[in-house]
Amino acid sequence: MPHTINSTCPVQPVIQALFGGTFDPIHYGHLHPIETLAHQIGLKRVVLLPNHVPPHRPQPEATAQQRLEMVKLATQGNPLFTIDTREMERTSPSYTIDTLESFRQEFGEGQSVAFIIGQDALLSLHTWHRWSELLNICHLLICARPGYQTQLSTTEMQQWLTQHQIYNPALLNSKPNGYIYLANTPLLHISATDVRQRHQQGLSCDDLLPPLVQKYINSQGLYRQ
Ligand code: ATP
Repeated sequence: MPHTINSTCPVQPVIQALFGGTFDPIHYGHLHPIETLAHQIGLKRVVLLPNHVPPHRPQPEATAQQRLEMVKLATQGNPLFTIDTREMERTSPSYTIDTLESFRQEFGEGQSVAFIIGQDALLSLHTWHRWSELLNICHLLICARPGYQTQLSTTEMQQWLTQHQIYNPALLNSKPNGYIYLANTPLLHISATDVRQRHQQGLSCDDLLPPLVQKYINSQGLYRQ
């Protein structure tokens, strides 16, 4: 049974967003762009969705429980964020579209909902299961990410983007789904891979993630090899 931590049901038709990730570990490259985005477009709630990682894919170094704990530590006391464990609790591989459909069922048809991804994820979106149906369920909010091209890789994708892209975020509240907004978020050269590598090399990660997450990583002896 999936459950939402710290969740409060919105009563206003304000836009709310979902943000999935492996979070191995969660870092400022996840948190800062989203906080900026929330401020820019008036997001009231961002639901963080730690992923279930299927057994046939490279496994995260931290366990699901440790990844979840780090997400909790990174967001505690911040009313913007809530955490939902439904993806993580799945025992079988699942697709983002399934998760979004389950949220849409909960929120109802009329409520504006967005899914947030980074530019790198936008570039590979056409490889996702039923990718072209994502906009039937939600809006897409794209955070800038340094090191990734802005041009999409196929003409089909580029046309799809042009067809759905909006430049005025106020429109996100005018319908429940169907728009793509490329946000002007800070460019942060941070990835979870960098964090893990720095730990392996015994280097400081103070500029990459919140102190409580750093402390937890140390206490659990994570990312040392
Ligand atoms: P890894 O290095 O292990 O591949 P990651 O740092 O890319 O991990 P994920 O948990 O895989 O982190 O990413 C979750 C989401 O966060 C994705 O949509 C990704 O595009 C986005 N994201 C991660 N880092 C950044 C960043 N520095 N700037 C903008 N978006 C980011």
